[in-house]
Amino acid sequence: MLDSLTQRLSKVVKTIRGQARLTESNMQEMLREIRIALLEADVAIPVVRDLIARIKEKALGTEVQTSLTPGQALVGIVHDELTQIIGGSDPESAREINLSVQPPAVILLAGLQGAGKTTTAGKLGKWLSEEKKKKILTVSADVYRPAAIEQLKTVSEQAGISFFPSSTDEKPLDIAKKALDYAKLHFYDVLIVDTAGRLAIDEQMMNEVAELENFLHPIETFFVVDAMVGQDAVNTAKAFGEKLPLTGVILTKVDGDSRGGAALSVRMVTGKPIKFIGVGEKLTGFQRFDPQAMAGRILGMGDIVSLVDEVRKNVDVEKAQKFAEKMRKGDSFTLEDFKDQLAQVKNMGSFSSLIEKLPAQFAQAAGQVDDEAAKKQIARTEGIINSMTPHERRRPEIIKASRKRRIAAGAGTSVQEVNKLLKQFEQSREMMKMMKKGGMGKMMRAFRN
Ligand code: GDP
Repeated sequence: MLDSLTQRLSKVVKTIRGQARLTESNMQEMLREIRIALLEADVAIPVVRDLIARIKEKALGTEVQTSLTPGQALVGIVHDELTQIIGGSDPESAREINLSVQPPAVILLAGLQGAGKTTTAGKLGKWLSEEKKKKILTVSADVYRPAAIEQLKTVSEQAGISFFPSSTDEKPLDIAKKALDYAKLHFYDVLIVDTAGRLAIDEQMMNEVAELENFLHPIETFFVVDAMVGQDAVNTAKAFGEKLPLTGVILTKVDGDSRGGAALSVRMVTGKPIKFIGVGEKLTGFQRFDPQAMAGRILGMGDIVSLVDEVRKNVDVEKAQKFAEKMRKGDSFTLEDFKDQLAQVKNMGSFSSLIEKLPAQFAQAAGQVDDEAAKKQIARTEGIINSMTPHERRRPEIIKASRKRRIAAGAGTSVQEVNKLLKQFEQSREMMKMMKKGGMGKMMRAFRN
């Protein structure tokens, strides 16, 4: 559904680009296409109306008339207006997280079951502890599902933050009181409270969250919403917004198939800024929301900025620089280096999520990537290299038939696989030789900035 929004908009964008002149009639046609694309993606009707009106007004203005390439100007307008509607007109400070209170600052997470609240508690906690150097405590007020409490515990451990235990025979308010006292006593900076969700809006659940809000006076009350849901997100956002003094939105699952249909509506419906996005199940998949990048993504232009960020975050820069230095000095590329590089690739996590961020035309060319298969392949390759002696890794040319057989047996694979790896390695070595002539240095400089 949402994929089709991107596809349709990309198609419109392509046609617009091709237009030599922008006339009243072809503009009407394009606006109609854009409207249909948005409606089909379940973007809320008032949002669609507003967006179309803004685009039309701008497009009829002088900007397009005087432009040399009116088609491109219109693409720019669509991009700008999309950006505005999802929060680009807010000052950046509106998307900052507010912690300006006497600690502990309480952050309350509300939303439907499955929206990603518990995962978000871990991601946000990890982010606050690593980026803001805060001491974090999490607690679950979900007394309906013991598994939910257990899940928060696991997620908190993975995130390297503290977890306050609770149990299903307690009342949510009592849990909140105890956790708050504990957080004060142990000088926590932030207390993140995960709440119970239901599959649909439910009076009792709403009252319960409202009670928690009323007692805790959170500095931030986030509405957590799954980016993959369409029109429903609007109704849910409305219901939560009416019941709770929300301070912001966290959009989850902005990966895979989702291209931001909910993002388009949720800002306008709640009147609250989207502050963060969740991208992937891993706890590192959490970013500040960037309206411009999101608009680009919705238009199928790719999210290059966050792609670069992700690469930067996951690549061990020091190692990469050492490696570059080594290559520059003319040392030869060994299987040890090859293994290091594979490890770095593995660190990058989900390949499909990286490809998602490429502009549509590249992403299409790259096709579907099977993450599991790719990971397995890397693990197999690592297994083979592990079965080699250090001497063999440094001087792969000595690996002849009997060594190959021994390595294959050690790694539980066939000689063909070993041959394949050696061939791949040879190709990489050739590439490295070519890169030595300047390319690599340039690449490294790009990472350093
Ligand atoms: P809760 O019921 O609101 O607490 O939701 P959970 O945190 O249990 O998340 C529900 C499911 O969505 C889990 O399988 C998570 O792994 C998954 N999930 C959460 N956030 C993301 C995300 O940003 N991307 C993806 N792909 N999955 C996510």
